Amino acid sequence: MIPIARPLIGSEEEAAVLRVLASGQLAQGEEVVAFERQFAEMCGAREAVAVSSGTAALHLALLAHGVGPGDEVITTAFSFAATANVILLVGATPVFVDIEPDTYNINPALVEAAITPRTKIIMPVHLYGNPADMQRLEEIAAAHGVSIIEDAAQAHGAKIGDKTVGGSNTSCFSFYPTKNMTTGEGGIITTNHPNIAEQARLWRNHGQPTRYYQTALGFNQRMTNLQAAIGNAQLKKLEQFNEQRIANARFLTEHIKDFVQTPVARPGYRHIYHQYTIRVLENRDQWVTTLHERGVGTGVHYPLAIYQQPFYQNSRSRFRISAPDGAVNLPETEAAAKQVLSLPVHPALSQEDLATIVKEVVALCN
Ligand SMILES: *Cc1c(COP(=O)(O)O)cnc(C)c1O
Repeated sequence: MIPIARPLIGSEEEAAVLRVLASGQLAQGEEVVAFERQFAEMCGAREAVAVSSGTAALHLALLAHGVGPGDEVITTAFSFAATANVILLVGATPVFVDIEPDTYNINPALVEAAITPRTKIIMPVHLYGNPADMQRLEEIAAAHGVSIIEDAAQAHGAKIGDKTVGGSNTSCFSFYPTKNMTTGEGGIITTNHPNIAEQARLWRNHGQPTRYYQTALGFNQRMTNLQAAIGNAQLKKLEQFNEQRIANARFLTEHIKDFVQTPVARPGYRHIYHQYTIRVLENRDQWVTTLHERGVGTGVHYPLAIYQQPFYQNSRSRFRISAPDGAVNLPETEAAAKQVLSLPVHPALSQEDLATIVKEVVALCN
């Protein structure tokens, strides 16, 4: 079976972990500081705050921006549920708007209509590693005096022009094993605002600027030196990983674009193919089964709009759907949830794997 994802861990990561184990400095320490510095540099951000997961990064970013009860956060329902869960966890209200049918990212044309006096944040997701239309979102945010927090959990090294994702607005990345780089579990917040970084650091560590001296409320959401050591080794390989994903995606698109709807990246956007996702108009479940039988692993990202999850259906008063003419569902989001299918694109694929994926996809179209 060709797996849909596979982390690439080598001798560099092994040596780094052994070095940390031998040092005895297991919790947050120098490896974390070095990782923060290097990740911030990669993004072109002033500061980075490493945490225990991508979800923790989003959660602490909202808290650091002062988001809480009574505030609204405009986002997409076509994402991993953590994107919206963190908004609920800080007591704010997710406001879902529909997506663009070609990129699956939040549709800026629908964002303006969702803004109210309570809107505090616009939270786009760079889905599958393809940047959202930040220029238009930034224009809307500036016009209404709201901030942007980017869910960049899938977008390490993605770019718009020469601007790397994470270098402009507060941005949150995940290092879960399936992501383009991993620390096992982990996350990071990048920001150009020292006060946001400072608030995130306080929330990360019990509200304590120094040991046993507490000025605020906080959690323990620190990253360990073991995780950061893996991250430092992975970060050195990120560019090579991304280039291989892009090359794999190019090969797939070249050979299947006449048969299915392949991923769309806007001109000048660097899509780093966390997922390579096609649209299957009918019988997607049959595609999943058949490809599986023929040795091609697939993924469905995501089978339900976030608001279609049972928890959200049972919590209708806690979120809002903003659709033209007061509609109560988001047609492009729901269509995508029924039709998207991710094929393997990760850097561990061989040329033979790629040829097999093409052959089996084309066979399903004939
Ligand atoms: C992976 C992911 C998250 C959560 O990151 P974790 O590290 O798993 O907590 C949030 N948002 C998106 C879009 C993701 O893909």
